[in-house]
Amino acid sequence: MTDTTTIRPFTAASFDQYLADGKLMASRCADCGTLNLPPRAICPKCHSENLEWAETSGHGKLAGFTVVYIAPNFMLEQGYGRDKPYVSGIVELDEGVKISARITGVDATKPEEIKVGTSLTVDFITADEGDKAKTFLAFKV
Ligand SMILES: [Zn+2]
Repeated sequence: MTDTTTIRPFTAASFDQYLADGKLMASRCADCGTLNLPPRAICPKCHSENLEWAETSGHGKLAGFTVVYIAPNFMLEQGYGRDKPYVSGIVELDEGVKISARITGVDATKPEEIKVGTSLTVDFITADEGDKAKTFLAFKV
């Protein structure tokens, strides 16, 4: 699909594509206004399929987190793991929706210094996955 006037489908693939564009996009129900992140193809509140893309502010606060020592493969490839943990968190955006993402700018070896409620800004991390680059969602302090 190269036609840019076509609305991208409300899928994880489109969400990832927007991340690569440097945008954190949610789906918004045109009927009841419910915002969904990650985007959903059907509004969970009123079951409408009348949706539109909405770019989020990219600002929020840390609602919870875990320090990850057992990393998935793509994180192992980036050098993370038992000896170099990273932080995975739940971020509540200013719009009120929550999403899980990697948290950067914090010291994963000192979780007692990481505070719930910390103000965060969206960040996009591009990493090689196999022979192509993929962009991952992150939030930085
Ligand atoms: Zn709705």
